[in-house]
Formats: sequence, C-alpha cells, structure tokens
Amino acid sequence: MKTYNELKLAKELIRFPTVKTEDKGIMKFLSRKLSSIGFKCKIIKSKGTGRKPALNLYAKLGNSKPHINFLGHTDVVANLNNWKIPPFKGVVRKGYLNGRGSQDMKGGIACFISAVSNFIKDKKFKGSISIIIAADEETTGLGTPSVIKYLKKRREKIDFSVVAEPSSNKSVGDEIRIGRRGSMNGIISVHGKSGHSAFYGSYINPCTALAKIISKLKNTSLDNGTKFMPPSNLEFTKMNVENLSENVVPQFATAKFNVRFNSKHKSSSLKKKLNKIINTVARKEKCKTRIEYRVSGEAFYTKPNKEIYMVKKIVKKITGNSSKLNCRGGTSDSRFLGSIPRLELGLRNNTIHMVDERTSISDLKKLTKIYYNILENYF
Ligand SMILES: [Zn+2]
Repeated sequence: MKTYNELKLAKELIRFPTVKTEDKGIMKFLSRKLSSIGFKCKIIKSKGTGRKPALNLYAKLGNSKPHINFLGHTDVVANLNNWKIPPFKGVVRKGYLNGRGSQDMKGGIACFISAVSNFIKDKKFKGSISIIIAADEETTGLGTPSVIKYLKKRREKIDFSVVAEPSSNKSVGDEIRIGRRGSMNGIISVHGKSGHSAFYGSYINPCTALAKIISKLKNTSLDNGTKFMPPSNLEFTKMNVENLSENVVPQFATAKFNVRFNSKHKSSSLKKKLNKIINTVARKEKCKTRIEYRVSGEAFYTKPNKEIYMVKKIVKKITGNSSKLNCRGGTSDSRFLGSIPRLELGLRNNTIHMVDERTSISDLKKLTKIYYNILENYF
C-alpha cells in the first residue's frame, strides 16, 4: 500500500493556485491520492464565487463505528504581491516550506493524509475514517454545509472530528480550539419626529433616544463568560444621522453593532434580550425602532471529553507542550459541524494570510506524528 510524505504532498498542493473557489484540478488530484489508498471519493458541488461551482470532497474508508473525521479546506486567500519567493511554487528553503496555504491550510491537509496513509498501512483497525475537504472556507463557506447535508441524507454519523486549521500559536500544539464564539451583526434604526430645534416639545429627537439605547446596551452585562470563553461583548461599529441643517432635528438615526457571544447564548435568545432593552428605552423616548440582525455564526463548544484529553496527552508526548484548550480565533468551517464532538488542531498561524506565508518542515513532521497517534489511540 502507498504512503504519502507530508512535505512532498504539501508542495504539490501549494502548486494549485486555488484562490477564491477556483479548483484548478486539486480535488481530482486529492481523489486520486485517496482512492489509491482505499478511500471512496465523492465530489460534492456547491455555489462558487464565479460562474463555476465550487468542488468539495468527501472521502471515506470503512463503514463500521467508530467514525473519525478530518476536516480541511484547499482554498487560499490572495494577497499575492511582493512575495520574496513565488507563492505557488512550494519552494523549500532553510528548513521552511514557502507558499500560500503552507500554514492555512494545505500543510495541515498534507499532514493528515500522510498520517492516515501510514496508519492504514501499519495497523488493522475496526471503524472508519473520513476526510472532508472544502473549496471555499475563506469565501462563501457553502462547501462544508453541502457535504454535511449529503451525509445527513445518507444517515452517516461522524463520532469525532479533527479540524486541521492552523490553531497553534508559538509552537505546534500549544493551543487546541474546542469551540468558537458566535458572531451577530445588528442595525438599529430609530424614528423620531423632525422639527425646528428652537421649538422644544414640537419634535422627538431620535439622536437622544439612540444615545440612550447605546448607553443602556453598553451598560448591560450579557453574562459573566464561561470557563473557556470570555463574557459576551457588544460593540457599536457605526453611528449615522443624515442631516444637512444645523437647526433641524432629524427624523432618523441609525447605528450598527457586532456582538461576539459565548455558548451561554443562542442568537435567537440574544436577539430577544437585545430587542427588549432597545424597545424599552425607545418607548420611554416616544420613538419607534426597527432592528435588523444578521447572524454570521452561532457559538459552539465541545465539552472536554475523553478524545480531547487523549489528544492533549499525545501533544504533550510528541511536543512537550501542555496545550491550552480555548475558543480563540476567527470563524472556521468547524462552525458547520453541528453537534459533532470536535477540536481544532493544526500548524502555527503566525504567517497565515500574510505575504511570504511559510511553515517549518519540522512542524509538518510533528503534526503528522500527532495525527498518526490520534488515529492509533482512537481505534
Ligand atoms: Zn483556514
């Protein structure tokens, strides 16, 4: 049976310029690699950023329980000017693999495919291994949901998932993500009654009401945080009043805000809470309000379970690091995994999205070893 070397595979993956949802043949390439070590591969389409659909991959080996999954994405961000070494060449220099996606996250994908190939060659095991590769994590984020939908239809259940996003900070494994905060945007429009500013009593000033609403929202504690997440926080990001005159009280005032919330809230309950605060103040000020929300992601969290402690132990054994379990960072495709127990553990993130992205080769080796040990201990 074939095995794959993580460095060689990472180089090959970097050479596909998969910016936005461009495929450039990468999913066929990965399907071929995985098919030849026994995986059944299925390409699942989702809406792309251009005319062509995005191609995502679901690969599965085995049908019995337990079912462990690795999740990754092949798309990369642009920011491609002024590189010292061309971003899509996969050049190795002085112990580093250079290129866009080396950390985020073609490097991580190469590590888990290498680990899987070596594990199934070495060991007999009972259970199944699957791999999900999305083509659009950095943009539309429709790939992973479409794969999850496909799995639901087939009633396939994943028991544990390892998301290979670059979660590590100063060295591989120093941080493991076990959840993420949720994020929601809101727009408040306050409607008053315009009038001449000299005639107190003839107008209702929406600016006054909006200022009081903002003050009340900022002075209300949403919660005290959880063991792994800080207190939820609401920040105003824009305030706007259209008014060309100095002596006219305006009709409308609007403000935008963003809330980062922990796992004590669902966006639906949070909306209710905020609506109540906003409407109570507005009513006192005799103003009407309209509130619009856009939820970018719910908060999620896997309570540290035996798999998470097992991974922590493995990281300690291989790197010496006592991993911090936390919920830092921006969003990732992990948010689409619903109630599947999971963690995020990958390469360092010190050069992701930057010019001259690179990963140390020894990190690739370490991470592959960690993934191999996860498989060995899981089954
Ligand atoms: Zn990523």
